[in-house]
Amino acid sequence: MTDKPHFKRIALIGVGLIGSSLARVVRRDGLADEIVGCARRQETRDAILRLDLADSVTEDAAEAATGADLVILCTPVGAYETLARAIGPVLSPGAIVSDVGSVKKSAIEAIAPHLPDNVHLVPAHPIAGTENSGPESGFETLFVDRWTILTPEDGTDAAAVEKIAALWRQTGSMIETMDAEHHDRVLAITSHVPHLIAYTIVGTATDLEERIRSEVIKFAASGFRDFTRIAASDPVMWRDIFLTNKDAVLEMLGRLNEDLSGLQRAIRDGDGESLQSAFARTREIRRSVVEAGQHIPPRNPGDAGS
Ligand code: NAP
Repeated sequence: MTDKPHFKRIALIGVGLIGSSLARVVRRDGLADEIVGCARRQETRDAILRLDLADSVTEDAAEAATGADLVILCTPVGAYETLARAIGPVLSPGAIVSDVGSVKKSAIEAIAPHLPDNVHLVPAHPIAGTENSGPESGFETLFVDRWTILTPEDGTDAAAVEKIAALWRQTGSMIETMDAEHHDRVLAITSHVPHLIAYTIVGTATDLEERIRSEVIKFAASGFRDFTRIAASDPVMWRDIFLTNKDAVLEMLGRLNEDLSGLQRAIRDGDGESLQSAFARTREIRRSVVEAGQHIPPRNPGDAGS
């Protein structure tokens, strides 16, 4: 790769699935002289050092960000505002602040007001993941052949945007740039609502009477299994996604409810023609996904993505 970026000190605020996968690439390809990891819990910080994902660790985000030329927030989005408030005063002139959050408009609203004018904010979202959490769950191929969406605001320093794009290209990711609001609407229907459906179906199954519930688990292979995998995703991260992408999720849920009612009516009326034509349309979508190479033959157990 010709445009390999280089950083003096990268501060990873949060070193879980996403942060640790990125750290593994930075280490592998020598993209930074120094990595500092920040996490609240001692056991997380111990794991970061044991896995050699950073040169040093701290529980203090401001300490991590001091002297860094790149700070990446890799925590649940709900922690962003407090973290941005803490790091804002210590950021070096010319530093880049980025993140990996699954929601972008509220991420920008939480971070931007706390950054000095001479710091560049380049928000990012790698569309890759699994249902696992923590530094042990990351792996260096997580982002290969997956999209990373950048949502810089108009007027953001082009060199800073390019440097973050180069970082993500180095992970094997493909880059797309778009407006944060557009990102949130697209992700609401491609990721957030599907996760909500998985949480609902698995929750409903849990509430069934005992005999049916045990059979649900026994015969899980018939479609339910994939829902249980998605519904095992981190509760805090997903709580924050729904709280911060409220408008787009509610809009897409409204549309989904209408379509579901249509299918419900077709089933009640014995309207096979409508059902078949709806299912034929969706089969075409699956073909397009496969053609775009985004059907992901699992390269790791439980390959999901948010
Ligand atoms: P994760 O595995 O749970 O890791 C979160 C990390 O952040 C942990 O190291 C945690 O350690 C630390 N942390 C949490 N709150 C903190 C705080 N207030 N200050 C400092 N450190 C804190 O989560 P993840 O799956 O990597 O997700 C991280 C971000 O990536 C989220 O914003 C999510 O929306 C986004 N994302 C996730 C996926 C996915 O599929 N998982 C995909 C794309 C993007 P301690 O608990 O010890 O503090």
